[in-house]
Amino acid sequence: SSSVQQEYIEKEDLYGAHNYAPVPVVLTRGEGVFVWDVEGRKYYDFLAAYSAVNQGHCHPKIVKALMDQVPHLSLTSRAFYNDVLGEYEEYITKLFGYDKVLPMNTGVEGGETAVKLARRWGYDVKGVPKNQAKVLFVEENFWGRTLAAISSSTDPESFGGFGPFMPGFEVIPYNDLKALEAKLDEDPNIVAMMVEPIQGEAGIVIPDPGYLSGAHALLKKHNALLICDEVQTGLARTGRMLASEYEGVRPDILVLGKALSGGVYPVSAVLADDEIMLTIGRGQHGSTYGGNPVAARVALAALQVIVDEGLVENSYKLGQLLRHELQTIQSRIVTEVRGKGLFNAIVVRGDRAPTAWDICMRLKENGLLAKPTHGNIIRLAPPLTLTEEQLLECAAIIKKTIMSF
Ligand code: PLP
Repeated sequence: SSSVQQEYIEKEDLYGAHNYAPVPVVLTRGEGVFVWDVEGRKYYDFLAAYSAVNQGHCHPKIVKALMDQVPHLSLTSRAFYNDVLGEYEEYITKLFGYDKVLPMNTGVEGGETAVKLARRWGYDVKGVPKNQAKVLFVEENFWGRTLAAISSSTDPESFGGFGPFMPGFEVIPYNDLKALEAKLDEDPNIVAMMVEPIQGEAGIVIPDPGYLSGAHALLKKHNALLICDEVQTGLARTGRMLASEYEGVRPDILVLGKALSGGVYPVSAVLADDEIMLTIGRGQHGSTYGGNPVAARVALAALQVIVDEGLVENSYKLGQLLRHELQTIQSRIVTEVRGKGLFNAIVVRGDRAPTAWDICMRLKENGLLAKPTHGNIIRLAPPLTLTEEQLLECAAIIKKTIMSF
């Protein structure tokens, strides 16, 4: 990065906590699938803010929803009703087919809410003895950075040095129905399992066909709930509105976030039917900003854009094309290309240079921004508004970059 960019970077370094390791590029503008740095260089954005910007940067309809609502009424808190929330709640529950929604702000708050719901359901409906409820998670899961979230983490970067941890959580292997069944058989106090249908931060890890539906069947048989964390996989990213649709699974509790606002505002949501949702009574859970009028307007617009612009279909179609293009790369660096829809990863050899980081630095020089997850996986997750022509240009950039090593 140049000295112009270096100044911004140094200021952040000096005054900001060092809890991220960003790619050294300083962005100032975004529009659709593109972002620009402070020196006017244009890039394809192949991270899309960890899939929060599925609808493209600064989508005019979503920005307009925000701009219309902010000067009108921005926050009431849920101490009072507002004239937008109900309309949004009706839309999202009908779109996904659940009785009720509980609005929160960030993804991790959605996960926390889902776990709280599962515990309450466990006590009130399943009849688990007080404070004995157990929730299962899978290895390499990622659902955020709160103490509860890291308590279920198997990544030392996430949990190391932050203990003590949340009781009542247990971790089993991912993609392993036998391990799940054994746990369920031995412990009647299991109330739920929370799982990403495709693991995102773990590196776009796709379980075997039948895993999610098999897990749901086992949980049902043992009177426990399936919580799907679709914060990253949901909202058209994988070529379906929800990744769980690939398995014909309707989660008992569904967690959404990120693209639920198209990147203009933090909005998350937990969806469930009354038997589960109404176990949390009035005054027993909430958030000052959750369900505020701006969030409700923005989320309504963000969902409508996904539906109106056919982003599910585009993601599916372009995902096929991207993998087809990348699979033609003849390089000893690449060991695997995998994904669903526009949720893809290139796996590179982990044992020698170039690392995924080296490749991402050169991709940046060639006009495409991506970020490694772990040492050897490059996540490719552009906005879903990408056109076929743009996708082919991006595939060419990626090929050219990899072949240059
Ligand atoms: N769940 C999944 C699957 C995620 O990928 C993330 C963030 O990357 C989260 C939850 C947490 O979302 P947030 O960072 O908004 O708290």
